[in-house]
Amino acid sequence: MEPQQRSPLLEVKGNIELKRALAKAPSQLPLPGSRLKRGPDQMEEDLEPEKKRTRGLGTKVATSRPRATALTTVPQTQGQTAVPKVPRKTGPRCSTAVATVLKNQKPGPAVPAQKPGTTAAPPVVGRKKPSKRPAWDLKGQLCDLNAELKCCRERTQLLDQENQQLRNQLREAQQQATELGAERRTLEEELARMRAQAEQGQRELGNLSARVLELEERLGTQEGLVQELQKEQLELQEERRGLAARLEEQEGRLQASEAALSGSQAEVASLRQEAAAQAALLAKREERLHGLEMERRRLHNQLQELKGNVRVFCRVRPVLPGESTPPSGFLLFPSGPSGPSDPPTRLSLSRSDERRGTLSGAPAAPTRHDFSFDRVFPPGSGQDEVFEEISMLVQSALDGYPVCIFAYGQTGSGKTFTMEGGPGGDPQVEGLIPRALRHLFSVAQELSGQGWTYSFVASYVEIYNETVRDLLATGTRKGHGGECEIRRAGPGSEELTVTNARYVPVSCEREVEALLHLARQNRAVARTAQNERSSRSHSVFQLQISGEHAGRGLQCAAPLSLVDLAGSERLDPGLALGPGERERLRETQAINSSLSTLGLVIMALSNKESHVPYRNSKLTYLLQNSLGGSAKMLMFVNISPLEENVSESLNSLRFASKVNQCVIGTAQANRK
Ligand code: ADP
Ligand code: MG
Repeated sequence: MEPQQRSPLLEVKGNIELKRALAKAPSQLPLPGSRLKRGPDQMEEDLEPEKKRTRGLGTKVATSRPRATALTTVPQTQGQTAVPKVPRKTGPRCSTAVATVLKNQKPGPAVPAQKPGTTAAPPVVGRKKPSKRPAWDLKGQLCDLNAELKCCRERTQLLDQENQQLRNQLREAQQQATELGAERRTLEEELARMRAQAEQGQRELGNLSARVLELEERLGTQEGLVQELQKEQLELQEERRGLAARLEEQEGRLQASEAALSGSQAEVASLRQEAAAQAALLAKREERLHGLEMERRRLHNQLQELKGNVRVFCRVRPVLPGESTPPSGFLLFPSGPSGPSDPPTRLSLSRSDERRGTLSGAPAAPTRHDFSFDRVFPPGSGQDEVFEEISMLVQSALDGYPVCIFAYGQTGSGKTFTMEGGPGGDPQVEGLIPRALRHLFSVAQELSGQGWTYSFVASYVEIYNETVRDLLATGTRKGHGGECEIRRAGPGSEELTVTNARYVPVSCEREVEALLHLARQNRAVARTAQNERSSRSHSVFQLQISGEHAGRGLQCAAPLSLVDLAGSERLDPGLALGPGERERLRETQAINSSLSTLGLVIMALSNKESHVPYRNSKLTYLLQNSLGGSAKMLMFVNISPLEENVSESLNSLRFASKVNQCVIGTAQANRK
């Protein structure tokens, strides 16, 4: 591998090894310390003694190892007595030279001189020296000295050569050292660079480690997240499977529903067709029904007219507990032409005139008074039976014909019982007013199916002594209901209205019951103020009925008047007139006047007189729209079953008979 392609770390390692080698190298180089720095001359001087000591080593200096060894030994030899290590290959001469040097340093026995150029001989150290020349043998000694000198010179020569070699080596070494220094510097620079690089690398490594840690941490987090996501994914997959199953199920259901829907749509289409056909049929039937309804009204009216626009029903109340039973035959109810199955229409009243006596003194035979009416109700007749007879008449009010029903009779004959009902709120004894209204509400409900809409407004007033009072007054007016006036509803209008009186819209029985209850309370309060006023006054319950058929633009309106007349009894002419009686006389006169006016009005209407005296009494004035012309009238003549009331009963029956003879024009419905 090329050096420049080495990785920095390997390069650094290589440099470090190189440095170690360099660090060791100075100890082997000949230039450490002061001696190497002193220069070649000084080195030569220093090497002079060395020459002496290392004489004979010249041949071995050229090799690096021996040289290094020789150089290494230099400092050890300074002032040391230690024997230098001599390489085994050192020749005998060298060994000899070393031995000589040692001998020079440390005087010892003389080493015999060796001939220069002789082959290597074993070291002389330890060898037995040649015997000493005798003192006298100066020549011999001189000869020895010369030999030695010669030897020394040779050695000197050798040493010079060696010295020269060493110098050369030194130069080489110095050059090598210079090169190595340069190389070392280069290497040091490189090392520094490498260190810097290494530090940089370390830093980068640190950064990278931190980054790795961070990334590992993030990786951990991400792995956690991945695990969570995987878990979530599994859950979602599970959920998806569930949803897919549900979807499949829903799709199945949807398909079934769609199939059912398409079936249903077809069915709907056919049903629509059927409905359209039914609607057309219904419209036809409605049309026919309307025609039938109108026909019914016409026929109904015809029937009522045939029965008479003025009808009189006679009702005899039962004998009340505590009352004396009349003698048998006092009141008789003869059967009709068809026998007992026929509703009774006749009544016979027997009156025994005490004043009429036979010449023998025996009581005269009672006189029979026969009366015939449209219908007679014997004492046992129930309220329902009575109402049944008038329900058709009441229905005429819905058809737009004014209807007026009176209860006429003496006090205690059962007028109030007939109109309002008996005490205790027992449904069996409910009177005509609640029954008539219930009937009207129910028929109106039925007619609503044919497109008719009805509304009812009730009023209830009493006329006492020719003053009108509101029986529906509430609050402070209760019982004293300020005086009311009868006025026309508007200029040119035929409709009458009572000022200060309450006109209450009603739509159900309960509301009517509440009104009747209120009227009773008002009468009771008034009774405490003026004794028995209720029987001395006329009570007029009026219901204004309005019907509309929006689809056909038809309207009808008519009043239904239910009148509980004041007691018809007359004042006994033989009665002493005290202050109370005088008041009572005035009352009675007012009552009689209004009742006779009623009779006169009916007569005038019957005789089709040009003037009908409506204005002669408040009662007829108030009822003028419910009488005559298009109106239908029914009078109940209430009779007491008691014999003691026979006179009054006869009066009532006579009055009623007169009325019964009246036939008032052909009624016409008030259609707009
Ligand atoms: P009027 O109103 O004519 O004065 P009432 O209606 O007050 O008479 O009747 C007098 C009494 O006779 C009352 O106690 C009433 O309950 C009772 N009465 C009237 N008619 C009948 C009847 N048909 N059946 C039972 N009780 C009756
Ligand atoms: Mg009464």
